[in-house]
Amino acid sequence: MKRQRMCGVSLALAGLLLLASAPRKGIKVFISVDMEGVAGVVSGRECSSSGPDYEYFRRLMTEEASAAVQGALDAGAVEVVVRDGHGAKTNIIPGLLHKKARLLRGVTSRPENMMLGIDESFDAVVFIGYHAKAGTEDATLAHTSSGNVIDLSINGVSLPEAGYNALIAGLYDVPVAFLAGDDWICQQAEDLFEGVAVYQTKEGMAPAALCLHPDEVKKGIRRGVVKALRDLSGYTPYKLQPPYTMVLKVRKERALYPGAEKTGEGEFTFSDPDFLKVMDAFNAMK
Ligand SMILES: [Zn+2]
Repeated sequence: MKRQRMCGVSLALAGLLLLASAPRKGIKVFISVDMEGVAGVVSGRECSSSGPDYEYFRRLMTEEASAAVQGALDAGAVEVVVRDGHGAKTNIIPGLLHKKARLLRGVTSRPENMMLGIDESFDAVVFIGYHAKAGTEDATLAHTSSGNVIDLSINGVSLPEAGYNALIAGLYDVPVAFLAGDDWICQQAEDLFEGVAVYQTKEGMAPAALCLHPDEVKKGIRRGVVKALRDLSGYTPYKLQPPYTMVLKVRKERALYPGAEKTGEGEFTFSDPDFLKVMDAFNAMK
């Protein structure tokens, strides 16, 4: 009798240990994929549908997204949405993307843009193929949304695309768990998002880059995503205090968004308690 009870306790302990090391079950993951940070990409032509090598690099972009999907599934995800976030948002090749993911492709006029489809039902965000913000010296293909933007800051914090995309996810309390991209965006993500796991695909020597082999990158992304998503307790959704005040510096001035103010040569400010409205103003004036 005593021996049996002992066995029961041991079994329960073993079960607990197993549970602690087992992948987390049932999570839902949102993967936003850009192109400039994908393995090997060093020029705008490689990410433009008119470029001669575009077909090759869009395939790599698709494969990196698939590697992240597989990593999410390995970590116990039951649902994965991949948002094509680059240019016309029609880069990822649907038939080559991991079968278990749903692909959100195509342009939108909605302010969520690269984050279209995110909502409170998701548990974590993963960024793939991301790049450094405009003005980052040495970074390959550094820019913020359009080549016209010199800098975007919200409440005094200068942000890369990953920054404002994380703020959109933060509106739904979804944290950023993992980012893959060039060395500079990895650094910028670590500075902004507490506990985020990053994977460096290349080292910027602008406009050149020292690149890892695409196969190594895919392995690294899968491994990194599994590790990042196994335990989501260490992440905090990225948030700033409303009202959100944007300061946008551009090369060429666009028409003033209703409610925005011109504060200097090529400098505009806009403030609103609704962050999506601020993103709308950004998209109109960028
Ligand atoms: Zn892009």
